[in-house]
Amino acid sequence: MVKSTVKVVIRTRPTANFASKNLKLDLEKKTIEVFIPKDSTQGMINNQQENWKFKFDDFLHNAPQEEVYNICGQDIVRSVIEGYNGTIFAYGQTGAGKTYTMSGGSQNYKFRGIIPRAISQIFREVQNKPEFSFTIKVSYVEIYNELVYDLLSTIPPSEQAGSIMIQDDSKYGIVVKGLTLVMSTSEEDALNQLFEGETNRTIAEHKLNKSSTRSHCIYTLHIESRSRVESSEKVVFSKLNLVDLAGSERTKKTGSEGLTLTEANFINKSLSYMEQVVIALSEKGRDHVPYRQSKLTYILKDSIGGNSKTLMVANIWPEPEHMEETISTLRFATRMMRV
Ligand code: ADP
Ligand code: MG
Repeated sequence: MVKSTVKVVIRTRPTANFASKNLKLDLEKKTIEVFIPKDSTQGMINNQQENWKFKFDDFLHNAPQEEVYNICGQDIVRSVIEGYNGTIFAYGQTGAGKTYTMSGGSQNYKFRGIIPRAISQIFREVQNKPEFSFTIKVSYVEIYNELVYDLLSTIPPSEQAGSIMIQDDSKYGIVVKGLTLVMSTSEEDALNQLFEGETNRTIAEHKLNKSSTRSHCIYTLHIESRSRVESSEKVVFSKLNLVDLAGSERTKKTGSEGLTLTEANFINKSLSYMEQVVIALSEKGRDHVPYRQSKLTYILKDSIGGNSKTLMVANIWPEPEHMEETISTLRFATRMMRV
């Protein structure tokens, strides 16, 4: 088993009320120090320690979308075009900026997130490789309470229960049976399909009475490349998974927002299984990686670890009232990074 690591980048959501008494950022050294005053009412932090110092691979503070993409997206997308699998996750509490990071703020070009930018880069770069013939397909799924919904299917998500199965095929790797893969021939095509998926997701939210905060969404670009110059019929398959994770906040707090215990349990479990998988992958000589414990890690099995490139953007909301969640996110992010 090849030892693998996850690159971790912290992104702060811009805020009028920055927690300057609690947080000290050093953008050069890529560190963040956290101070919790002794008389703090934030008693939920069940740890005696009051100061923490974290260091990450990168730190994005007040960073525009373009910069986020240059640091988080560009290299992974390039290696996916070269035939490696890649995964980019956005992690963090609800409101911290995960969807802004992955999808973006509005139709305005400037505010586009990682997904539309990745689509754009892929269609641009494959044109510069005339010696290969590329086939690009997309899929888009949502995982809610451990059920997988196909957002590009013609069957509405509310009627899909149980129609998707994940199988580990010895020849093709992870195969999601029943999943719709849509052929995409241009950037515009892929953007339309993305939009269609978003629309289906919104419809399903109303029908199933849930919010996107409680589900994981995985948008995947599937790339096939065939050499036009070599006589061999060799085909290279690769995938890029762009994942907007469910909010990582703890149950206690989300109760007020209507998160049920069942939903919270599914989210907590799947995030902690994801952590277990990443930790198992980072340990030399570990040959059992517990992918099958959750749909999220199972679907992503061949795209995290091994030769795949994995990056997590941990989004934080640096206001005093969100300190607890911020610390919890920074700790999770640190564990994901361990080598
Ligand atoms: P999440 O998906 O983590 O729940 P969102 O991405 O929906 O959070 O962000 C919550 C709100 O904050 C949205 O209105 C979003 O537009 C805004 N926001 C988040 N991050 C940024 C950012 N970096 N720049 C500008 N606005 C942001
Ligand atoms: Mg969101």
